[in-house]
Amino acid sequence: MLTFEMIEKHGDHEQVVFCYDKDCGLKAIIAVHNTTLGPALGGTRMWNYANEEDALKDVLRLSKGMTYKASAAGLNLGGGKAVIIGDPKKDKTEALFRTFGAYVNSLNGKYITAEDVGTTVHDMAYIFMETPYVTGIPQSFGGSGDPSPFTAHGVLMGIKASVKEKFKSDSLKDVRISVQGLGNVGSHLVDYLTKEGARVSVADIDKERVQKISEKYGTAVIDPDKVITSECDVLAPCAMGAVINDQTISELRCKIVAGGANNQLAEHRHGDALLELGILYAPDYVINAGGLMNVFVELEGYSRERAFEKTAQVYDNLLQVYRISREQKIATHLAADRLAEVRIKSIANLRQHHHGRMARPFSTLKEMTNRQK
Ligand code: NAD
Repeated sequence: MLTFEMIEKHGDHEQVVFCYDKDCGLKAIIAVHNTTLGPALGGTRMWNYANEEDALKDVLRLSKGMTYKASAAGLNLGGGKAVIIGDPKKDKTEALFRTFGAYVNSLNGKYITAEDVGTTVHDMAYIFMETPYVTGIPQSFGGSGDPSPFTAHGVLMGIKASVKEKFKSDSLKDVRISVQGLGNVGSHLVDYLTKEGARVSVADIDKERVQKISEKYGTAVIDPDKVITSECDVLAPCAMGAVINDQTISELRCKIVAGGANNQLAEHRHGDALLELGILYAPDYVINAGGLMNVFVELEGYSRERAFEKTAQVYDNLLQVYRISREQKIATHLAADRLAEVRIKSIANLRQHHHGRMARPFSTLKEMTNRQK
């Protein structure tokens, strides 16, 4: 398919920028999906794509996802994403990231970048040498550092909202929760859950991690092949995507699916299937928005306390999704999309009728340009 055809086919992107530099070998694409709510924020993924078509498809899909995530999170941010074509293990250089930073800068704050798969906080520091429009920079530069404690805190609040919705309870005491994946997010989540008195079981393919966490918190251990179908109140997927699929769906023994992993549904129809089974599903991009909320706080001048306050909002956001799902009799993943779309539409109307004053993001950008290098 031709490039412009593909861009048109993938929806209503505002701008797609191809970045190329012969000397440093940069080949990157920045996609700005929608800036109705604010500047388009989304990470830069570095990946050895098989071909340019795959890279373009990925950036178009991911940037649109960011529009929905920011909107449903209630943030004054739009959706964007960038991909750098290359091997993150071999092709990284200072010049590559600084040249990419110069491209980001040329968009004058319409797109703000961050870490993603294949990029690190050190790469962001190079980008920051060329542009202020980057988040997730090291703490020593005024950045917010590792987002995972905040993502996990959002997931905790999302689990609480889901337990409230399903069991009408305000407490996680003795609630049986199976956590799949004990990486950055999962390990923090186990810490929070055990402090709430939940009965936590854990699984990971990394045996050392399982041993460390289960000894530290006294949790039960489940075989990683059995965790998705384990009998529990809440299944919290915090590893890879597509865990709710044709193989697992009929074998689920949980009442709620609420975890931090991205893309938990193999396909959209699996969200409908969960509704039919009476299993409450916390849409992934709503419950795992804590990391995004954390970098949003960075844009305003960072405070950990404010970041924790912000991530607590996942509770109300999810209750809103559940209310829409009940009232409109639609699956929760669709209810989340509705929530996001309605907010964008209503703010677009507001802009049309009361143009002039932009909300927060543009004072935010001023803050960003003032940060010290
Ligand atoms: P991570 O790489 O630190 O941890 C993933 C863990 O899952 C590892 O310990 C790995 O061994 C384990 N794992 C992999 N396959 C498994 C399997 N089949 N069974 C059991 N365990 C398995 O990643 P992370 O940063 O903790 O992120 C976890 C998920 O949350 C990912 O889907 C990520 O996209 C998503 N997410 C993370 C953040 C964040 O702030 N880190 C934000 C939003 C979403």
